[in-house]
Amino acid sequence: MDKNNIPIINPINGQTLYEIQEISVEQAKAVFQTAKTMETKIRQMSLEQRIAEVEKINQYVLEHGNFILDCIIAETGKSRTDAFAAEVFEVCDVIDVYKKLAPKLLKDKSVPIPIFLMGKKAQQWMEPLGTILVITPWNFPFYQVIVPALLAFLAGNAVVVKPSEVTPLVPLWNDFFVKSGFMKDAIQVVVGGKETGALLLAERPAKVHFTGSVRTGKKIGEACAKELIPVDLELGGKDPSIVFDDVNIDRTVNGVMWGAFTNAGQNCTGIERLYVQEGIYDKFIETLVDKTKKLKTSSIDRNTKVAEDCDVGAITSAFQVSIIEDHIEDAVAKGAKVLCGGIEQKGSHHIKPTILVDCNHSMKIAAEETFGPTLAIMKFKTEEEAIRLANDSPYGLSASVWSKDIERGKRVARQLVCGNVCINNHMINEANPYLPFGGVKDSGIGRFKGEEGVLTFCNHKSVIIDQQSNMIEPHWYPFTQSKYELLNNLMNAYFRKPKNWLKFAKNGLRIDTIGKKEQIK
Ligand code: NAD
Repeated sequence: MDKNNIPIINPINGQTLYEIQEISVEQAKAVFQTAKTMETKIRQMSLEQRIAEVEKINQYVLEHGNFILDCIIAETGKSRTDAFAAEVFEVCDVIDVYKKLAPKLLKDKSVPIPIFLMGKKAQQWMEPLGTILVITPWNFPFYQVIVPALLAFLAGNAVVVKPSEVTPLVPLWNDFFVKSGFMKDAIQVVVGGKETGALLLAERPAKVHFTGSVRTGKKIGEACAKELIPVDLELGGKDPSIVFDDVNIDRTVNGVMWGAFTNAGQNCTGIERLYVQEGIYDKFIETLVDKTKKLKTSSIDRNTKVAEDCDVGAITSAFQVSIIEDHIEDAVAKGAKVLCGGIEQKGSHHIKPTILVDCNHSMKIAAEETFGPTLAIMKFKTEEEAIRLANDSPYGLSASVWSKDIERGKRVARQLVCGNVCINNHMINEANPYLPFGGVKDSGIGRFKGEEGVLTFCNHKSVIIDQQSNMIEPHWYPFTQSKYELLNNLMNAYFRKPKNWLKFAKNGLRIDTIGKKEQIK
């Protein structure tokens, strides 16, 4: 193997599927040249034409769902239902929603005029920015690529996407746009590693949409700041979930179990920290451990495929396996107890769902992003204590609160410092494209989806439309004492309480008269 090649590994059996390479400076330039040409073509299309293009992708996904799933699973080792629900189904949902939302969000909008600009018209036009560079992680390799790319395209932009070098899905993207009949080169997928990402960024895209780790997010943010390139950063998380002692234990255990272990915990919004109130603590943990032990985990014995009935898939990358092992070992060394799962075979990509109790925030498993099928559990007494513990994190992506008392749920949710929160469920905010998604603190900058899903890729152009006449504006030259006084009177007549409409009208008329007479000849 050439040392510059990046191998793409099937995590189920460790086999190399194929290799990719970093691109050259010339290739990066060629990509952006093509994008420049496409910018003009896309700008000339109507929104209806762009929606028709996006609809082609929808049809392709519906017709080739199984092929897409096979490609995703081969490189991620996900369970089929995880891949289906969070990647394939979700993509159709997003397309369906934005076909309805985009026409409302992208149409020219009339806005009111303040008193100072009386008589004029104001509008807001949503225009494309140019070429958007989308850089994506490996945990949802289809969804993370196609969703921002399609939304940026809907907003009228050309798109360049750099998927993760861990899961570049080359067999999928090779044919995807051609076979779907989608507009050629409107979205270019460029595979490669970090260097490729950096080379594409150096081509000065109009905006960067980055999803990935905090570490890389800071580097991307810095590079963008130097060139004044706008950037959205969708970064990591360490989601807390708070369970009060009035819950239905069975439902809540099932919800928490899914929230923690879906996608084998490789979720920016997976539950990683669980705070359970003391009244139900023992019963809750016993039920949770009991149910978790029944989950079917992927295994190397199943050869190249993840079984259809597998609940918890494999860990996609070897470096993530090392982090998960390190966090479990650190927790145990600091006094945590493993109630199920744990490290059975070092280096294995098949890690059983692991529940740890007696955890505290000095442990990596409760403080840093683990991104694996682990759940660090802690007991709490009061609402205040639960809120304090949940907020004790550099991350602020998402969280959940479980209680029969919805008012308490809302009260607690309002005090959690995070971008997204669920009451009696977890992380399904992400599944509602009508809602904005994003983080606070180290979890990122900017919002995606909801209205921002397309607006974030627009130049929000502000437009004032005025008439031609023989008058000039009161704030144009010449600046005279009389004009100044009239403007002052106008302001006081309008803003002081009660409003003095008579004085306002008189001064307004006098300003108009001066506007006709007092002009620089
Ligand atoms: P990563 O930061 O290592 O890589 C993300 C992407 O950045 C990859 O495509 C990589 O090639 C590219 N990259 C790395 N260095 C670069 C550079 N210097 N210039 C340009 N591009 C560069 O992240 P990852 O390990 O692939 O993904 C996991 C992380 O993503 C986790 O922290 C997870 O929480 C986060 N994530 C966040 C969200 C969200 O919406 N907030 C969603 C999914 C994943």
